Amino acid sequence: MQKLTNMEPVNDMAEKKEIKTEEILILGTGPAGLAAALYAARADLKPLLLTGTENGGQVALTDRIENYPGFPDGVGGSELADLFQRNAERFGARLEYEAATEVDLSKRPFTVKTYGNEYKTKVLIISTGATPNKLGIPGEKEFRGKGVSFCATCDGWFFKDKDVAVAGGGDSALEEGILLTRFAKTVTIIHRRDQLRAGAILQKRAKNNPKIKYIWNSVVEEIQGKQGVEQLALRNTRDNKKSKLTVDGIFIFIGHSPNTEMFRNQLELDDKGYILTDQRMRTSIPGVFAAGEVCDPFFRQVITSAGMGAAAAISAIRLLESESD
Ligand code: NAP
Repeated sequence: MQKLTNMEPVNDMAEKKEIKTEEILILGTGPAGLAAALYAARADLKPLLLTGTENGGQVALTDRIENYPGFPDGVGGSELADLFQRNAERFGARLEYEAATEVDLSKRPFTVKTYGNEYKTKVLIISTGATPNKLGIPGEKEFRGKGVSFCATCDGWFFKDKDVAVAGGGDSALEEGILLTRFAKTVTIIHRRDQLRAGAILQKRAKNNPKIKYIWNSVVEEIQGKQGVEQLALRNTRDNKKSKLTVDGIFIFIGHSPNTEMFRNQLELDDKGYILTDQRMRTSIPGVFAAGEVCDPFFRQVITSAGMGAAAAISAIRLLESESD
């Protein structure tokens, strides 16, 4: 990797060394990126993947996956991510542990910059996924890692025999809440409505779990404590009554937002920032494809993301084939 000094901005790199143009460059190594890589690798295109900051994506942070076909007993999230990676690498996919910081999609080959490198590629597949939403309340940032968490698989262990809260009422809140009962003494799910958004199976499992309690029609307004989280200031969404809940930690699962900041003003996005694609995973720029949660506000499953990744790669392969005729 070329070493840069402050006097040598990344922008000048193109003039200083010849950059090989990749056939297919894939951003992100979640299920979408790795499925795309598998298909592109099996077409002998030796795709290059940039992992971003979270190799494996959100699935690697999930405790168990029970709805990915082929695993009747379930499979660990990080194990599945590892299997995806090995599968793609077996056919020649190459991983670089780098995060893209800037893209230029105004002309082909497209340019992708990282902190230390610059890449050119004929085809770009964007599978940068989504990031957990924040509540945006006082204490959330300050106590992150000191009782505020966005990942039960990562941090649940620290709450052995403690009282924790979960904010949210969707599948993630319940699934992660159930996981937390392995460690915590109690798990209180705080939901802003009186009906959960989560699916029936998870609702039933949570209901049957004696460690799980609920606070309905309530939102967390502030996370309070000294060295770490000690209590939550709550507000009832119906009558606006305020109350406090003593907890040792809070896990926040209130949905996700797509990681598309880099593509704003270059690709067509919807009003929530998801990349718009057609049925063939083509974006508004020919040669740029998207797959997985970065373009999917609807399904957000491992299998749908992997399916989109495969579809994006098939479209990309066909494009490259048509151009080489
Ligand atoms: P989600 O389905 O969007 O649910 C987000 C939850 O957070 C909702 O209950 C929402 O309340 C609440 N919420 C949103 N903003 C809030 C705020 N500012 N303050 C308080 N509460 C707020 O997100 P998710 O649970 O992360 O799931 C994302 C997708 O992944 C879904 O499609 C889900 O089916 C899928 N998923 C599936 C599984 C599985 O199949 N096992 C597991 C995890 C996730 P409202 O209900 O009032 O809107």
